[in-house]
Amino acid sequence: MTTTCCRSTSPYSQFIQDFMGGVTERNPYEPEFLQAVQEVVCSLEGVMNSKPQYLSGNILQRIVEPERVIHFRVPWVNDAGEVKVNRGYRIEFNSAIGPYKGGLRFHPSVNLSILKFLGFEQVFKNSLTTLPMGGGKGGADFNPKGKSDGEVMRFCQSFMSELFRHIGPDTDIPAGDIGVGAREIGYMFGEYKKLTNTFVGVLTGRGLEWGGSLIRPEATGYGCVYFAAEMLATRGETFEGKTCLVSGSGNVAQFTCEKINDLGGKVVTLSDSSGWIFDGDGITPEKLAWVMDLKNNRRGRISEYLTQFPNAEFHERNDSLDHNPMWAVDADCAFPSATQNEINATDADNLLRNNVCVVSEGANMPSTAEAQNVFVDAGILYGPAKAANAGGVAVSGFEMAQASQRLYWAREEVDDKLRQIMSRIHQQCVDASNEFGIEGNYVDGANIAGFVKVADAMMAQGIV
Ligand code: NDP
Repeated sequence: MTTTCCRSTSPYSQFIQDFMGGVTERNPYEPEFLQAVQEVVCSLEGVMNSKPQYLSGNILQRIVEPERVIHFRVPWVNDAGEVKVNRGYRIEFNSAIGPYKGGLRFHPSVNLSILKFLGFEQVFKNSLTTLPMGGGKGGADFNPKGKSDGEVMRFCQSFMSELFRHIGPDTDIPAGDIGVGAREIGYMFGEYKKLTNTFVGVLTGRGLEWGGSLIRPEATGYGCVYFAAEMLATRGETFEGKTCLVSGSGNVAQFTCEKINDLGGKVVTLSDSSGWIFDGDGITPEKLAWVMDLKNNRRGRISEYLTQFPNAEFHERNDSLDHNPMWAVDADCAFPSATQNEINATDADNLLRNNVCVVSEGANMPSTAEAQNVFVDAGILYGPAKAANAGGVAVSGFEMAQASQRLYWAREEVDDKLRQIMSRIHQQCVDASNEFGIEGNYVDGANIAGFVKVADAMMAQGIV
C-alpha cells in the first residue's frame, strides 16, 4: 500500500509498521478489517505530529478495539420444516460521540472481519455527519435470496430474539444494509416491539406509517451524488451531460441512478452478483422504475432487463478475469454501489484510461487499497465511502430526531438537510486536507476530520 504516509520515510512510517504488526497479530484472519485500519492510520501522520497527546494516550490502540462484540446463534425453521442455524453478530465499536449506530447485513459472506471493517469505518463516517452517533455494525451469514417471506420473517424474529437485549434507542440503533431492506426491518421491529412492549426508535429505515423518515430510502444514493456534485463544483463543473457507471442494483444503486438522472447525467450500467448490463441509450427514469419494481417487488435478476429493453447488453460475471469489464466502459463518473473491493488496481487503471474523472463511493470500501492509490495519485475527484455514502446514516440520524420529537419533517425539508450535510462533509474533507498540506486528497481529509472528533471525545472521557 502506498498511501501518503507509507510512501514517506518519516518516523511515523516505522510507527505504522510496528502498529500494524501488532494489529495483524491480534486479528490474524481479518483482512478486510486490517485493510480499513491501515487506510485510516496511514492518513494520520500530520495529526499525530501536531497532537502528540494522541500517541501518549495510545488512542490508536484503543480506537481499533471494538468496545463490545456480540456473537450469537440464530436457529430458525424453513418452509420444509427443517431446522437451520446461522451466526448473528453485533459489533458495538465506539460510543465516544453518541450511541452505536450502523446497519445490519444479511449475506452469506458475513463474518467477523467484514463486520469489524464496516463498524470501524462507521465510527469515522458518523463523526463526519456532525450528528451525535457512535459506530456499530452487525448482521448474519443468512442469505435472504430465494427464501420465502415466511422464512425471512422467522429468521428475523429469531435474530431479534437475541439482539433485542443489546440494543435500544439510547444505546444502539441498527439500520439496514445489504440484504436488509424495508421487509427485514419491519419483521425485526415487530419482534422488538413485542419482546419489550415499547414502540421506540430502535431501528431506522422503518416504514413511513410506523416511525420512518421521508428520504431515508433515497438518502445514501442521493447523498453520494450530492457529494460528487460538490467535488465537481470545485472544478466549475456539473453533472449535465456526464456519462456515469453505477454498479449494483439495490437500494444505493437505484437512488444514485435516480439523482444522476435528476441532475442531467446519464447512467449506462447497473449490475448484480450475476453480471452487469450496458444500456448506451441511458437508464432513463422510466427504465429505472422498471428496475426498481424488478428488484424490490419481484426480486428478479438484472439480466431480465434485456427482456424489457432488448437494445441493452448483458455481460455475465466472469471471475476468471483479473478485472471487471464494466469498469472499462467509456464514462466520466463512476459510482461503485454494490460491495467491498469491487474495484481493483486494474479496474482503476481502466477507469482512468477511459477518462473517468469522478469516483464517488456508494458502497463501503469498494476500492482496494491499490485502487485507492491509483485514484489519489492521479489527482481525480475521488470521494471515499466514509464521506460520500454518509448520507444514509445522516438521514437515519434525522429519523431518530423525528422519533424523539414524535414529529414528521416534510420531504423537501429532509432533502434540504441531507444536501447541507453532504456539503458540510465535503467542506470538512477539504479543510482537513488543506490544513495538512494534502490538498485534493479526500481520503486523508475524511479520515482526519472523522478521527479528530472521536479521538478528542475519547481523551476527554478518560480511560474507559
Ligand atoms: P442491497 O442489498 O440493496 O443491494 C446490494 C447490491 O449489490 C445488489 O445488486 C447485489 O446483487 C450487489 N452485491 C452484493 N454483494 C455482491 C457481491 N459480493 N458481488 C457482486 N454484487 C454484489 O444493498 P445496499 O444497496 O443497501 O448496499 C450496497 C452497498 O452500499 C454496501 O456496500 C453497503 O454497505 C453500502 N451502504 C449502504 C447503505 C444503505 O443505506 N443501504 C448506507 C451506506 C453504505 P445481488 O442481488 O445479486 O446480491
